[in-house]
Amino acid sequence: EAKKDTKESYFFYNTMLHQQLMKKICIEDELQKALYKQQFVLYYQPQVDAGSGALVGVEALLRWEHPSHGILPPSGFIAVAEETGIIREIGWWVLNEACRQMKKWQETGALNVPISVNLSFNQFRDETVVKQVAHALKMSGLAPNRLNLEITESMMAEDLERSVRILNEIRALGVGVSLDDFGTGYSSLSYLKNLPINQLKIDRSFVIDIVRNHRDQAIVAAIVTLAKQLWVDVIVEGIETEEQLRAIEACRCRAIQGYYYSQPLAESDFTEKYLA
Ligand code: C2E
Ligand code: MG
Ligand code: MG
Ligand code: MG
Repeated sequence: EAKKDTKESYFFYNTMLHQQLMKKICIEDELQKALYKQQFVLYYQPQVDAGSGALVGVEALLRWEHPSHGILPPSGFIAVAEETGIIREIGWWVLNEACRQMKKWQETGALNVPISVNLSFNQFRDETVVKQVAHALKMSGLAPNRLNLEITESMMAEDLERSVRILNEIRALGVGVSLDDFGTGYSSLSYLKNLPINQLKIDRSFVIDIVRNHRDQAIVAAIVTLAKQLWVDVIVEGIETEEQLRAIEACRCRAIQGYYYSQPLAESDFTEKYLA
């Protein structure tokens, strides 16, 4: 009797795994086609100085213009893209496209702020990562100090020594490095000590309750002070309301990114708003 159970559950799991695998292969195949059919697009979210309202940067965010499902955010496909490794191809496309677009905005509209590009784990692990960055700069003609690469703490964990070396090589090109989602990883302070970064992005999770939660206020204020002492720029992500903005300003943070100012915008909308 017990044996039969085991057999059945084995069969059940096997079927589940098979279905999951098929689904994954399907999505992988779709992603490959999407790349080939040029269905990926970048959206651009402004980063703003809270005091003056001036644009201080732009983050490029990936979207999939799916022929039947519409505009898909990365949450639905980035994980599979990472697992299958196809994120590398997509990611190098993102890097080149973001550099090309920023160079164009500089030339046609005198927009003179850096563009931030998210790197994936698999891209960072890629032995050619530094070459890819140099290549994107060369192809686009974008000045290195107009490019910022966003990495996360979890990407650094696998091999800290290599991570520091790669980041130093990227910085040596003149490119900036931002630590994204700061505060959500495991050893924020040791990374802060060891990594050659020039910007910290305080994660949205510290902002959501900041108006009422004194702990969030204290943490954000402390991170801002720490960043200043380390000569690292700091930006807060995910400001949605005026009250959150006030609370962030009280923490002496000026640079912000969030729906309060703007959602990520399609290229044409960004052009209309910031270059017209
Ligand atoms: P992220 O790099 O932390 O990007 C910020 C995310 O927060 C974006 O979501 C943005 O639309 C969203 N956001 C900005 N302001 C607000 C706000 O006020 N409220 C709320 N609720 N959300 C806000 P998005 O575009 O869906 O991207 C999600 C994540 O996907 C990104 O988080 C990043 O980790 C990843 N991602 C996006 N584009 C790329 C890419 O080109 N390559 C790689 N590897 N990852 C990417
Ligand atoms: Mg980011
Ligand atoms: Mg983030
Ligand atoms: Mg993130």
